Amino acid sequence: MHAIILLGAPGAGKGTVAEDLKQQVGIVHVSTGDMLREAIRAGRPVGLEAKAYMDKGELVPDNVIIRMVQERLEAGKPEDRFMFDGFPRNVRQAELLDDLMPKCGGRITHVFMLEVPREIVIRRISNRRVCRQCGAVYNLIGSMRPKVEGKCDVCGGEVYQRADDNEVTVANRLDVFHRETAPLVEYYQAKGVFVRVDARDRRETELQILQQLGLSSQ
Ligand code: ADP
Ligand code: ZN
Repeated sequence: MHAIILLGAPGAGKGTVAEDLKQQVGIVHVSTGDMLREAIRAGRPVGLEAKAYMDKGELVPDNVIIRMVQERLEAGKPEDRFMFDGFPRNVRQAELLDDLMPKCGGRITHVFMLEVPREIVIRRISNRRVCRQCGAVYNLIGSMRPKVEGKCDVCGGEVYQRADDNEVTVANRLDVFHRETAPLVEYYQAKGVFVRVDARDRRETELQILQQLGLSSQ
């Protein structure tokens, strides 16, 4: 199977874009953050281990993440096109993914960096709410508000603010992004798969990605 990677600061819109493209073109959305939150909710040991790191805005140890990703890849079908959101997050994870991909009979075809000014990501994150039940993402400001306050449009579940979407943790997540994840730009540029995307507008972002993937009708 082939893979596409979405890079970007917290709040850049990786999860939203990946969900939209899943609906539109059937890519398989793989979010390590969602997988970890699901593990916490289900009370699995891996979730308990991860939670302390997530609450502080630190990266969960690479071995935990890579084991989770490997299991997910093994459960995939050869024709799947994976879109990774929130993974890899540092050079070590990128190297481990490079070892795994050939074993899945595929390669990384595109790496998109979703670029959004810092003021906008901070505003997006402080107004972000998610569904506890299905993970759907909302924003209290603008067109992504839940139709009924506090309830998920999709499943009726409770819409809440993530524990790590507070001011202190967000500042740390942004630092971690610049320190650990930004070096992946050079890593993937060297492989000739890197594409920068202006991600201020949701539809424009998706259009740019679809064009790069050769899937756009425009
Ligand atoms: P965001 O992109 O908004 O920070 P995510 O849901 O991707 O949100 O990540 C939330 C938290 O989950 C991170 O701060 C980190 O603690 C953990 N996490 C998610 N993916 C990874 C990963 N690939 N490596 C290490 N930690 C991760
Ligand atoms: Zn829901």
